[in-house]
Amino acid sequence: SCNTLEKAASLIQSHGPLHLLNYVQGEFQTTSSTKPPYIDSYEPKTGTAYAKVPCTQPDDVEAAIRAAKLAFPGWSKTPCAERSRYLRRVSELIQEHRELLAVWESIDQGKTIERARIEVDRAAANFSYFSTFILHEQTAARMVDSAWLTYEHRSPAGVFALISPWNMPLYLLTWKIAPCLAFGCTAVAKPSEVTSMSAFLLSSLFKKANIPAGVINIVFGDGPTTGSTLVASSLINGVSFTGSTATGINIRRMVAAQINKHLSLELGGKNPTLVFSDAMSNGHRDRTISVAASAAFENQGEICLCGSRIYVERAVYDEFVQSFTDYVSQKYTLGKTVGAVASLQHYAKVRSYLQLATDEGVTFKLGGVPDALDNVDSTGGYWIAPTILTNVAPTSALQKDEIFGPVVTITPVDSEEEAVGLANDSEYGLAAVLLTADGGRMRRVGEQLEAGLVWVNGWLVRELGTPFGGMKSSGVGREGGEYSRDVFTVVRTVHLPA
Ligand code: NAD
Repeated sequence: SCNTLEKAASLIQSHGPLHLLNYVQGEFQTTSSTKPPYIDSYEPKTGTAYAKVPCTQPDDVEAAIRAAKLAFPGWSKTPCAERSRYLRRVSELIQEHRELLAVWESIDQGKTIERARIEVDRAAANFSYFSTFILHEQTAARMVDSAWLTYEHRSPAGVFALISPWNMPLYLLTWKIAPCLAFGCTAVAKPSEVTSMSAFLLSSLFKKANIPAGVINIVFGDGPTTGSTLVASSLINGVSFTGSTATGINIRRMVAAQINKHLSLELGGKNPTLVFSDAMSNGHRDRTISVAASAAFENQGEICLCGSRIYVERAVYDEFVQSFTDYVSQKYTLGKTVGAVASLQHYAKVRSYLQLATDEGVTFKLGGVPDALDNVDSTGGYWIAPTILTNVAPTSALQKDEIFGPVVTITPVDSEEEAVGLANDSEYGLAAVLLTADGGRMRRVGEQLEAGLVWVNGWLVRELGTPFGGMKSSGVGREGGEYSRDVFTVVRTVHLPA
């Protein structure tokens, strides 16, 4: 794999930046008229500009929407078994090209190759899951007084805008494309301008799978130009968006007057991890430490579900801090098990919080303030070491804001009540991790946490049929299995006489 990575790197060096192309109406194309302005895309591990991403202008976005609109009648009437076969083929193609996709995802996003492989496998699973889901659909029917038979009938909701962020590019985009196509909708998808490469490669797999032209279109570009044109278009029947809460609010505002536009918003988080004394007893301790550590540092902390606020019962606080710090410093090594953060802009953001930590006089158990990388010419990767902070005030921005990097705070608590109170003291409500050996507490505390996803003694366990989404400012709506069906279909109730 190192060889493949090196080969890919030398390819970039010898050929210069790669130019990505939109995929519209089953063809790769630049634009209909003039050349679009390009956005430079950087390799986070080296700070080199390696690709040029088109910033698709409104006219071309609209052409892609029209292509999806044109393909909708045919695709929505395509039998489920046939749609299922297309999706299964895409899943197989992703598996066949696993290494290629993983290598480019790692180059493009900064994540480790091991992490990228996991996400490619999960992208394939998104397609295989929904390819079979639609073969087993059931509908509820009722009979009242034997006079009327009443049943629910669903049909595809139309053309969707699918917009994703930069942290798990391929995985999150396919989490939208797979159900959208499975349920008979067509789409224009837009990945983040920071990490567009895997979507570009994916479009060639759609072509290989012979997905009918126009069913899935991929356009590249930024939020203000490309994304907002897509969202605001009156031809778009629904938007499935994953990204920051600020953008989610923007999108909601943009479509406020389009009352029946389906909207699914998966937004930011600032997730708590709760560690109780019993979780540090013999037989539980190792798991407690490793779960808390992976929740904090997996993918450089750039997963919306990462647990970046750890609350520990005071009786085991010192022991936890010591063991956790030892474990993280051994297991999470920069450049080996920890990648680079996704962009220079993000590097600057995470760094500014570490600067704030210094200003606030908090304790760095691990890590420190990295060097400033002032401009894009200051080559070098966007490396931020795993950072563990203690003595952080509950009111500090370090405890409130989503930093979205390899930074975690650890705070002692005196009671279960205080732990729950602090865990819930956040504008966000996406996920939570509860570490305890006490069966009663698992439910008692688990069911009080204001989070769309609660994991007890584990993290990032995903079953694709369960509802995924956040409470509070972490989002609106749920996706997964039948919840995705709600996003991508409209339902009517039909009454039949006896
Ligand atoms: P972002 O909101 O800046 O961008 C997300 C996407 O929206 C990008 O493709 C961007 O180009 C596009 N966009 C930006 N402005 C737009 C606009 N006005 N109209 C339409 N599209 C627009 O988020 P980001 O920085 O790329 O991603 C990080 C955020 O994503 C974090 O807050 C993280 O928690 C969140 N996230 C949430 C989940 C989840 O499932 N809840 C998963 C992963 C990431």
